[in-house]
Amino acid sequence: MAQRIAVIPGDGIGPEVVEATRTALDAVADVHGLDLAYDDFDWSCRRYVEQGAMMPEDGLDILREYDAILLGAVGWPGVPDHVSLWGLLIPIRRTFRQYVNLRPVAVLEGVQSPLRDARPGDVDLVVVRENVEGEYSEIGGRMNRGFPDEMAVQESVFTRAGVTRVVDFAFDLARTRGGYLTSATKSNGIVHTLPFWDEVVAERAAEFPDVRWDAEHIDALAAKLVLEPGRFDVIVGSNLFGDILSDLAAAVAGSIGVAPSANLDPTRTFPSMFEPVHGSAPDIAGQGTADPVGTLWSASMMLDHLGHQEAGADLLAAVRATIRSPATRTRDLGGTAGTREVVEAVAARIRA
Ligand code: ATP
Ligand code: MG
Repeated sequence: MAQRIAVIPGDGIGPEVVEATRTALDAVADVHGLDLAYDDFDWSCRRYVEQGAMMPEDGLDILREYDAILLGAVGWPGVPDHVSLWGLLIPIRRTFRQYVNLRPVAVLEGVQSPLRDARPGDVDLVVVRENVEGEYSEIGGRMNRGFPDEMAVQESVFTRAGVTRVVDFAFDLARTRGGYLTSATKSNGIVHTLPFWDEVVAERAAEFPDVRWDAEHIDALAAKLVLEPGRFDVIVGSNLFGDILSDLAAAVAGSIGVAPSANLDPTRTFPSMFEPVHGSAPDIAGQGTADPVGTLWSASMMLDHLGHQEAGADLLAAVRATIRSPATRTRDLGGTAGTREVVEAVAARIRA
């Protein structure tokens, strides 16, 4: 029986990179004999402008029947960010308990890192971000608006179950990689939630004796990510810290256009969602120049999650080989190719 994938191309360059990625996925499916079926959904800021909502009211019920979700990008000038976030992305992440946001970071051959000395292979790490609780809570409020004693209060929510499951995922992942985990904290300044986070990490560490681990304060960790990114393997952080670290790490790797992400429900109760880190890039939308690598890499993670590890590895290997040459990489990577040329080269390599 076919595995069913819900495709949400979204806005701006989203549809361009998703269409390109479908071409590569078709090649992988042919070569590896995969039975993948796709349904497209026009859920987007465009839909919001025309119909008043990013997705239909029963959108989540529709999605839950799928094995995975492939998303391009949502967001458009004039539509506030909170509309695309709270009208689509956050309901999907929370309802489907996608409690892990996984962001691999590597300096690829053909990509110039802003770090002078970073060579391909030097940086190869994964940021594991807690994706459903923590600092991004709706608890809190504003008081005394406009008065001298105006104030805002925002509560963070860290639960034992929530921290344990993401930390366990990170330890497990570290075990399959370099065997080293870094936990992002700030328990010297934040006196309730992060000491609790640290305690849970230390407790869970006892269950993974084969993984070395450190706790690092977020400020020092950010600095080290720039100064010596090569020493990291898996980094686990709260919702806010993970968000910041994954953007920082993606910048270190060279281009936002190549960064992938997965929003995972590791229990596989609900569909997981795969999307490039970049947004809808209105400045280059419609020109056919968008870098498809972030979406291709995300699709490779999707194949992996669907149980097709070999196919996923094949896709990523073809992408990496393709962008070595300036003739088959996009302008953000100093190349000369358009989106289609890149993906046709990737597909040809897969079929070869
Ligand atoms: P959003 O609000 O949807 O997040 P944004 O403008 O804040 O959009 P991005 O869409 O990620 O953020 O764009 C940031 C910059 O990176 C833009 O200049 C954009 O052109 C560039 N960029 C983003 N993605 C790509 C890509 N896939 N290929 C080439 N350039 C890209
Ligand atoms: Mg943005």
